[in-house]
This record gives sequence, structure tokens and C-alpha cells, in this order.
Amino acid sequence: MASVARSLTSCIFCKIIKGDIPSFKLVETDFSYSFLDIGPLSKGHALIIPKDHAAKLHELPDEYLADAMPIAKKIAAAQGLENYNILQNNGRIAHQEVDHVHFHVIPKPSASDEEGLVVGWPAKKPAMDELKALHQELVDRLNKV
Ligand code: 5GP
Ligand code: ZN
Repeated sequence: MASVARSLTSCIFCKIIKGDIPSFKLVETDFSYSFLDIGPLSKGHALIIPKDHAAKLHELPDEYLADAMPIAKKIAAAQGLENYNILQNNGRIAHQEVDHVHFHVIPKPSASDEEGLVVGWPAKKPAMDELKALHQELVDRLNKV
């Protein structure tokens, strides 16, 4: 078990980890807990949550992040999924409702907007010099993180 695990008494996902709120558990490790989403976008929609209370991805220690994706892979493989989305929302306007990091595994069984994730993708067409300037700025920032 990770030594720095945080928990928040008012958090529904912390309560699920503790067993105070029931859930349909799938895979559990020292770092993660996964279960069926109660409001699925499609059959088999699952959630993977770290056993550490952090609201957003950048607040979560790396060992929890490293543990989560192999579980996503396992859940996808167990269902034989060929088409699916892994989704992780941060912040209200980015569709985050529960402020405890979670990864969605969302099967996309058909092209229908009725099942699975429906994605809007408003791609822009930036000028190359804009991209170049942004790239330089980001590389500089990344070197400081
Ligand atoms: P978000 O929009 O924050 O990325 O997604 C939160 C997800 O948590 C939603 O898909 C919602 O259905 C799910 N959820 C919220 N409360 C519960 C709960 O008590 N149990 C389960 N199993 N899922 C929950
Ligand atoms: Zn929590």
C-alpha cells in the first residue's frame, strides 16, 4: 500500500474504496480500485480510481497513475473490446462531476450516438509559426516542471 494515501470523508469515491458505498468491483490492487459505472454510456462502462484522494490528474503521485492503465487494458481485454475510449476529465467545464481522479473505460459497440462516448472535435488550423512559438514556450516550461 502506498504510504501517502489520502482520503476525504465527503468524497463518494473515497467511500466506495472504503466499502461505505457499495459498488460492483472489477479489479483491485494496492494503488487502484475499479468498478462498474452506475450511469453507463454503454454496457461494460467501468471506472478506475486511485486509492488516493486527488481531485485532478496533475495532483496525483505517479505510482497511482502507473497502476491505472494496466487495469484499463485488463478491463478492455476481459470484454474483448475492439472499439472503446479511455477518458479522464479534469474540472467542471471539462465534464468532471466527481472530484476524485477517475479513468473511464467506455465501450463503443456501434457507431450510434446512442451508445458509448460521443465526441465533439473542433479542430483548429493554426499557422506553423504559431505552433513553432507555442512549441518553444512549452519546451521551456517542461524543462522547469
Ligand atoms: P465524470 O463526469 O466526473 O468524469 O464521471 C463521473 C462518473 O461517476 C459518472 O459516469 C457517474 O455515472 C459515475 N458515478 C457517480 N457516482 C457514482 C456511484 O456512486 N457509483 C458508481 N458506480 N458510479 C458513480
Ligand atoms: Zn476521494
